[in-house]
Amino acid sequence: MFRRLAEEMPGQTPGAKGPKDQPDPFRSVVSCLLSAQSRDVNTAAAVKALFARATTPEDMLALCEAEIAAAIKPCGLYNMKARNILKLCGALIDEHKGVVPSSRAALMRLPGIGRKCADIVLSFTFGAEVIAVDTHVHRVSNRIGLTEARTADETARQLEERAPEWALKEGHFWLIQFGKAVCVARAPKCHRCFLTDLCRFYAAARL
Ligand code: SF4
Repeated sequence: MFRRLAEEMPGQTPGAKGPKDQPDPFRSVVSCLLSAQSRDVNTAAAVKALFARATTPEDMLALCEAEIAAAIKPCGLYNMKARNILKLCGALIDEHKGVVPSSRAALMRLPGIGRKCADIVLSFTFGAEVIAVDTHVHRVSNRIGLTEARTADETARQLEERAPEWALKEGHFWLIQFGKAVCVARAPKCHRCFLTDLCRFYAAARL
C-alpha cells in the first residue's frame, strides 16, 4: 500500500497549513493545542490573533488568562485552551528553560499536548520521520486495513510499528492526499482507486 501511495500521491508539498506551518517549535506546539476540535479556518484566526500579542513563553505569561481567551475565541474551548497555554508556558520555563523539547515523551508531558500534537511538532518542526495522525490519516488507515485501531493514538502506534522506514517521512502526506482525493470520507471513489486489490473495505463490500 505504501509503495503505491508513494507512486500515486505527490507527498510533501510547500504550503502546509495550521500547526504544520509555524516558524518555530513554540508557535507550532501552541497552534496545535489551539487546533483541537476546531476547524482550520477558526484555528488560523485564533493563531493570528494570539501570536500578534506574544510569540514566546515569557511574553505569553505576561498576558492574563482573559486576554488570551479573548484572542483565541474563534477556535472554541477558549477558556480551557487559555489555561493550558499558560500552564504549557510555565512548564516550558520551569522544566525546559523556555525551550520546546524535541522528544515525544517530553512533549506529551506538556499540559494540553497529546500524541497527535507531539507528532506534528516532531515531524514538522524537528524534521523527525514520524507519521502524524490526524482525523484523515486515522480514518483512511483503518478503513483500508493499514491499522485496526479505535483511536488516533492507537493508529499512530500501529503505523509506527507497521509502516516501512522509508514511508515514515511522507506517509502523513500520502494518506491525507489519498483521503481527500480518492478514499474520501462519505463516498470513497473505489471505481478509480489503485488499492482495490489490497483494501479491506473494498473486499468486505464485495462479500
Ligand atoms: S478501494 Fe475504496 S475504500 Fe478502499 S482504499 Fe480505495 S477508495 Fe478507499
